[in-house]
Amino acid sequence: MNKTKNRSIKGIVFSVVFTMTALSAAPVMAGTPSAPARTVAASTMVWESATGKCYHSKNNCGKMNPKKAKQITLEQAKAKGLKKCSKCW
Ligand SMILES: [Zn+2]
Repeated sequence: MNKTKNRSIKGIVFSVVFTMTALSAAPVMAGTPSAPARTVAASTMVWESATGKCYHSKNNCGKMNPKKAKQITLEQAKAKGLKKCSKCW
C-alpha cells in the first residue's frame, strides 16, 4: 500500500511541475504581437493630394485642396510611389 501511495504522490508532483512549466512557457511562445499590428497597418487610410505627389495623414493639412483629396490606403499610396507629406506626418 505504501509503495502505491508514494507512486501517486510522485505522479501528482510531476504533473503539477509539468503544468507550471507549460503555463510559464505559453506566454513566451505566444509573445509575437506582430500579426494584429500588420492588419492595422494594411488598412491605414491616407489622403492623396490633387497633385498626386504626396500622401497625407489628414485632408486639411494645408498643402493641398481638401475637396480634391482622395482617400486611399497606405498600401496604394506606396504602390503609386507617393511620398510622405513632411508637414502632417
Ligand atoms: Zn500633408
